[in-house]
Amino acid sequence: MGHPGKVRRHKMGIRMPAKRTTVRDLRRHNRSLLLSKLYFDGPLSRHELSGLTGLSAATVSNVTAELGEERLITEAGLVESDGGRPRVLLRVDPAYGHVAGVDIGETGVKVELFDLAMNRLATVEHPLASPRPDAAAAVTQVASGLREVITESGIDEATVLGVGVGVPGTVEQGSVKQGTVEQGEAVRVHAPTIGWKEVPLTDLLRAEGVGLPLFVDNGAKTQGQGEMWFGAGRGARHAVIVLIGSGVGAAVVTDGTTYRGSTSSAGEWGHTTIVYGGQECRCGSRGCLESYVGAEGVLARYRKARGGKANQDEDEQTQFAALLESAGKVKAAAKVLEETAGYLGAGIGNLINLFNPERIVLGGWAGLALGEEYLPEIRRVAGEHALAHVFDQTEIELGQLGPDAVAIGAATLPVAALLDQGADPRTAGSKRGTAA
Ligand SMILES: [Zn+2]
Repeated sequence: MGHPGKVRRHKMGIRMPAKRTTVRDLRRHNRSLLLSKLYFDGPLSRHELSGLTGLSAATVSNVTAELGEERLITEAGLVESDGGRPRVLLRVDPAYGHVAGVDIGETGVKVELFDLAMNRLATVEHPLASPRPDAAAAVTQVASGLREVITESGIDEATVLGVGVGVPGTVEQGSVKQGTVEQGEAVRVHAPTIGWKEVPLTDLLRAEGVGLPLFVDNGAKTQGQGEMWFGAGRGARHAVIVLIGSGVGAAVVTDGTTYRGSTSSAGEWGHTTIVYGGQECRCGSRGCLESYVGAEGVLARYRKARGGKANQDEDEQTQFAALLESAGKVKAAAKVLEETAGYLGAGIGNLINLFNPERIVLGGWAGLALGEEYLPEIRRVAGEHALAHVFDQTEIELGQLGPDAVAIGAATLPVAALLDQGADPRTAGSKRGTAA
């Protein structure tokens, strides 16, 4: 949210005329406040908006008239009022524009297109040939996926407010917070586990012809925002949303905000040590949680237990499903999965002790598959490892958005920019830079 009334100072320390800045910031703050209320809690009447935001009836009336003229909000029927005229309900117009969400995973690229109310209009998925996908190959798939979802849904590209991209690594983006990227600003992705070193992702996407505004963040963080807005995190102020796929990550939400740390890499829970001197991890260290509960690590343990046989024909998800399938018949499979639930429960116990969340949400394709069968065991072990009084106040739940949560969450990044700025992210503020 903006900071109304904050006085900007000139570089030389000379006070700039305060009034204009203050009025502009206040206007943005009010637009942001009302748009956000309508987005998350609409439809609402002007009267309700005034009560919920503390803004005066006159301000609500002026600002909603302005938002209506810009077609950001629309009328959504009438509601009876006590004795008076029926009140008009307002909501954010789902048809105002579209947003795209991209999940660059370790096994494939998924691209989805949504309207502003996050109704899904099209999805495409392209597998990546290698478990250590080349950045250039991934970027080509993203660019063609974007063209495909736009064509498939029959919309005009000019209506797309932005593209959110979730990546399997940490994202370094200069001065910009919250995963948003100004057009023209380079974003570098570090993903040592798949061999990505300072990959200039936005530059590569521009070179592939993607001209839309781009918003990039770590995939666990986009999944986290998706679950917080629309899924199992709704209503919580303090939550940790964990992502277990091939690799492992987490989004730590404290008091409603994703904790980012000094360079935005916070939440690398997968590379916290669960076994001192334990097995080698893809990051180069030893004993990381990811090497015990990430799908790649689990399948490697199962292969070892069966004498090293690997089924090269099947992808990781198929192999993982087969492993869960055989737990009832094959002793080694049951043992590996029980151990996995144990490591995961202990890792969740660490999260509970560190962050005191109200809720832990287990997501990611492997996390959901594992949780489906082993959630009671995971909870039991977490309870053994976390401090008892803290554990008793923590819920541990499965994610509600399914394995698409990273892409859905990525698509919320341009929506978050819209709500935060109180205006279309393509036009908000001055035109900063141009697309590469
Ligand atoms: Zn590691």
